[in-house]
Amino acid sequence: MQPYPDTCPCQINPTAETADAPLSYQDCCQPYHDAFYNDEVDKADGIKAETAERLMRTRYSAFALVKPDYIVKTTVPAQQALLDVQAIESWAKESDWAGLEIVEHTPKLGKCHAQVEFKAYFKSAEETSGGLEEKTQAHHELSTFIKVKNKANNDARWYFLDPTVAMTVSQKQPCICGSGEKFKRCCGGYI
Ligand SMILES: [Zn+2]
Ligand SMILES: [Zn+2]
Repeated sequence: MQPYPDTCPCQINPTAETADAPLSYQDCCQPYHDAFYNDEVDKADGIKAETAERLMRTRYSAFALVKPDYIVKTTVPAQQALLDVQAIESWAKESDWAGLEIVEHTPKLGKCHAQVEFKAYFKSAEETSGGLEEKTQAHHELSTFIKVKNKANNDARWYFLDPTVAMTVSQKQPCICGSGEKFKRCCGGYI
């Protein structure tokens, strides 16, 4: 097992002008990651992300620390079986993660949706006239998150809606978030 970093990966923001004291991994994303590896989590309350931004942060940290299972389990349940865990793992491993910047969090977008605009930074070597040069680049994305209700235990959790993954529900079926609306009128509008 790799040693855990002192500073949580999601606390590193290469564009921040003032350096707020960053949280340690232990005080930031670790409890969320650990909860998913604990079999008791479904029985107990478990620690779950309170907001879409919190989930976004823990997902970024999971990429940086190569925890593909966490990425899968925090994606909308209807999409989980369609994810390529191997691809997620190798992408996480091969990327040289350099930090996270939350640009904007829209916590309430309708009943059970939220959006987070973020930049995930990574380093890449680029060919220049002076030879190979290391550059910091960013994936700039606007991600949609859905709060899905579990009718069995009346629990609700935030999940990431992966816009690149085909859905197992048709447009006319009841929505995956449990809102009671048709998929196309609800979460389908964000894909
Ligand atoms: Zn964190
Ligand atoms: Zn929905």
